[in-house]
Order: sequence, then C-alpha cells, then structure tokens
Amino acid sequence: MTDFMEVADRVWVARYEWADANVTAIGGERGLVVVDTHGSTAAGRTILDDLGRLGAGSVGAVVNTHWHWDHAFGNAAFREQDPKIPIHAHEDAARMLSEQGEYMKQRFAESEDPRRDEVAATELVLPDQTFSSTRSLDLGDRLVELVFPGRGHTDGDIVVRVPDVDVVLGGDLVEESAKPWIGMDSWPLEWHGSLDVVLNLVTSDTHVVPGHGVPVGRTFVETQRDELAVIGETVRRLAGAGVPVDQAVAEGDWPWDADDRIANACRRGYEQLPPGARSLPLA
Ligand SMILES: [Zn+2]
Repeated sequence: MTDFMEVADRVWVARYEWADANVTAIGGERGLVVVDTHGSTAAGRTILDDLGRLGAGSVGAVVNTHWHWDHAFGNAAFREQDPKIPIHAHEDAARMLSEQGEYMKQRFAESEDPRRDEVAATELVLPDQTFSSTRSLDLGDRLVELVFPGRGHTDGDIVVRVPDVDVVLGGDLVEESAKPWIGMDSWPLEWHGSLDVVLNLVTSDTHVVPGHGVPVGRTFVETQRDELAVIGETVRRLAGAGVPVDQAVAEGDWPWDADDRIANACRRGYEQLPPGARSLPLA
C-alpha cells in the first residue's frame, strides 16, 4: 500500500519501494492518465488498488515513459480492468519491449530478486498507441503532452508535460535517487543533447518528477545534463586518442566514481562512434 501524493493540481505521484519507482496519475474530465505501471502484473494491480483509495476517478489511459521492466511490466493489470484501455509510448519503446521484454523477464526469473516469481508470472502487454515525436492527450479540461526529446537512457524515452500546472515527468532521462542509469541499451553520446530538448520545456518554476526519487527543479536537470555531457565528451576524447575500450574507464576523469554506468557508457559510446572518430591504438 503506497499513497499517491498530490504534487500539483490533480497530479499525484506514488513512490513505490520496489526499484524505488515513481508512478504518476494525472486527473482530468475524461479520467486518469497513469504514467508508468511498475514491475509486474501484481504490482500494476497494487497501483490500481492505491488509485482506488485515492478516489480520483477511473483510469482512462496509460503511458509508458520507456520499455524497462520497472515502468512497463505492470501494463497487463490495466488491461485486466479495461480490455480497451489505450497504452501510449514511443514507437521504439514498444519495439524494444517486444524484442527484449521476454529476455528481461527470463533474466529476472533467474535472479535472486525476492519478487522474481511475480515477474515470471507477468504477461507482457505492448503499448498499442505509439508515436514518433509528439502526441497530445485531451482529458477534456486539460491537455497532456507526450514528447520524444531524442535518445538517451534508452531508444524511446519520452517526457510527459502537464502545461497548466508546469509539471514535467522525466522518466529515467532524469533520476534523483541514484545517478542516471546508463545501460547497454543507452545512448551516452546523445543523452545530454536530449536533455537540452527537455530543458526547453522546463522553466525555473517547473516541477520535474524523475523516474526514481523526489521531484526536482531545473538546476538539478541542468547538473545531470552537464554530467552526462562530460561522460559523452570523455568517451569521445578517449576513443579519438586511441585508448582501447577496456582501458577507457581507468583513463577517464568521470563526474562520479567509475561504476557500471561508466563502464557501459564506454562500451556503448565506442560502439556508437562513427569509425572515423576512433583512432587505432598505436601499439
Ligand atoms: Zn529505465
């Protein structure tokens, strides 16, 4: 049981302990839009129970900010309640979930996670309302904007904007409770540029709800953008200088202690650079 807290007029955020994942509900005349569905069908049912206690109406639409398990594996619960409910996402998020979702489920089922059984029992439900750049959802008395700012944390991360209350949901393009996760499906050379697009939607008064952690403001997003820019530029410089990828982590000056994120940024960054931007090692 987790409470939805109102962070702006009819915008409620529940912060779930498992994966420290945020789920947001946006209220309007045509029902609630639920942004992200947590990590399993059982977890999705819990969201619906928590929304029932909130008493702010029924769910009219679902949005997945990206394909990752802790944001999209709860989709089936919403279809159980309403077989016709639209699930919106970027087209590449839907593609990644269809290509990688079962593999992620399998990896989870074999892990030590105490909730692995409920993940294994989860039916993956793909978003059926996909788009490539922007989409508006008309809730009757308010509009919700879905914007694809470019690749970053994954291929198809979107941000969700509620203009009348100046709220932006950043998905995992912005993380507060940990450093932004750079995985083997991330775009470390492009992420900071995508955050520049997000920053065009963010004023000094905007509440930015990250995918994980408490709401933040513009300066937090700027700092995270700068850190990701340093990572991207460092990877570019090391590759250009002919440093082999397996030495890049040790050779670089990173904005935080080198961890799996930095190692993944090097591997992915080297792969993504055009051949002319890489020098061959001199040895
Ligand atoms: Zn993610």
